[in-house]
Amino acid sequence: MTSLTETPTRPAYRPYRTQVAAVTRLSPHFARIEVTGPDLDVFGTAGLDQRIKLILPLADGTFTDIGQDDDAALDAGTWYDLWRGVPTDVRSPLRTYTVRRIDPDARRLTIDFVLHHDPGPAGAWAEGATVGQELLVIGPDERSDGSRLGLDWHPGTARRVILAGDETAAPAICSILEKLGPEFDVDAFIEVPTAADRLEIVTPAGFRVSWIPRHDRDHGAALTDAVTSWTARSTDVLAKAAAPRRQPLADVDVDREMIWDSPEDSEGEFYAWIAGESGMVKTLRRHLVQGCGVDRKRVAFMGYWRLGQSERQE
Ligand SMILES: Cc1cc2nc3c(=O)[nH]c(=O)nc-3n(C[C@H](O)[C@H](O)[C@H](O)COP(=O)(O)OP(=O)(O)OC[C@H]3O[C@@H](n4cnc5c(N)ncnc54)[C@H](O)[C@@H]3O)c2cc1C
Repeated sequence: MTSLTETPTRPAYRPYRTQVAAVTRLSPHFARIEVTGPDLDVFGTAGLDQRIKLILPLADGTFTDIGQDDDAALDAGTWYDLWRGVPTDVRSPLRTYTVRRIDPDARRLTIDFVLHHDPGPAGAWAEGATVGQELLVIGPDERSDGSRLGLDWHPGTARRVILAGDETAAPAICSILEKLGPEFDVDAFIEVPTAADRLEIVTPAGFRVSWIPRHDRDHGAALTDAVTSWTARSTDVLAKAAAPRRQPLADVDVDREMIWDSPEDSEGEFYAWIAGESGMVKTLRRHLVQGCGVDRKRVAFMGYWRLGQSERQE
């Protein structure tokens, strides 16, 4: 993952002070939260799977001072150093989310939150969010040369693509699908907790989007079955994406390390994008690269979270 503090001209990312403008319960396990903020007119992103950081309020409703109101700190891009400089037990928690929609003219940003069991600070905040509450968002600054940081969707010349993810990747997958034109030939697989968590999206006719309810199965099992069954009937597609030789894959310990690689745009017909729970991402990546022989340069994989672990605060 590229550092969010890399600064080609002005800082790529900056804090935005925002307030909740609307809360909509989309389904049993999704809440859509729209926030507004005076500076969101310079929020710059191509959309797609744009990641952002949320700085959540402390128990008393205040936020760690990361220079959010200090123009010099904003220009210097010191928010992350300021945040890291505060002891863990007294600083605002930070979590990673996806831009579901941004309207800079209306200064409005939409984030879709999964409401999950055993919620941490982000899930709990989303569950109880009400209009007027404050949220600090760390997002791209369109005035920076680096404003395209935080995007992992890099299909290059590929037009035959598959996307696979769990509910945490649903906002990114929906946002990517809404941006793609009809020249793309798409299969998307999204595992959600229940059948009622299927979300509405508008895509070009012909995109095949499968919402897969998990019900009582283990996390990722239903998605893995769906992708495995797709690969079994798509050998012609996969043959065109084959690596010239067998590729060794390091055995990432997903309980200790982040599983993450998003290859740069390159030439080729096929591209796969996988995100969600790290164990599931590891299984699917292995299946595509080692099981099916797909060139690893054609597979982006992002471990968004890990069962039983809070997001690392480093
Ligand atoms: C690039 C990126 C983009 C993301 N985009 C989104 C997004 O748009 N919407 C979204 O909802 N999430 C998204 N996530 C996932 C989100 O960051 C995690 O789910 C995060 O851990 C939630 O924070 P929390 O404070 O609620 O829980 P934490 O304090 O991090 O964790 C508390 C407990 O809950 C478990 N847990 C965390 N998430 C889930 C879950 N989804 N289901 C079940 N158990 C869980 C943890 O394993 C832990 O046991 C994204 C992650 C990344 C890296």
